[in-house]
Order: sequence, then structure tokens, then C-alpha cells
Amino acid sequence: MKIEINQDVCIGCGICENFCSECFVMNASEGKAEVVKAEGCDSCNAKDVEGRCPVGAISVSE
Ligand code: SF4
Repeated sequence: MKIEINQDVCIGCGICENFCSECFVMNASEGKAEVVKAEGCDSCNAKDVEGRCPVGAISVSE
């Protein structure tokens, strides 16, 4: 699995970090989310998080 965030699209809402702070963190200086665990983790379903991003900035590929 590979999780990616399109930085040009992210609006910094924080939903992804709220859903899984192990894979996503907010970049304080940029105000956007970054992926810190691109392979995903045991405690979240990355595909579910992908669907929760309001602007479709998250992509999850196999
Ligand atoms: S949910 Fe989407 S728009 Fe919101 S911070 Fe995460 S990547 Fe950015």
C-alpha cells in the first residue's frame, strides 16, 4: 500500500490526522497534511481515510 497527499489540493482541514495520527500529521508551517507512514498502519483503514478527505487530496494505491 502507498498513501500519498497532493499538497496542491490539501486545504489543511485536519480530518486525516484526526482519523489516524500514526499515518498523517499536520505540517505546522505549511498548514497542510503530510503522510508519515505511507505503507499504512494496523489501526486505520487508509482507504476509509481517503474517502473522508473533503477535497480528494489523499490517494491510496496497492
Ligand atoms: S483530510 Fe484531506 S484536505 Fe484535510 S488535511 Fe487531510 S489531506 Fe488535507
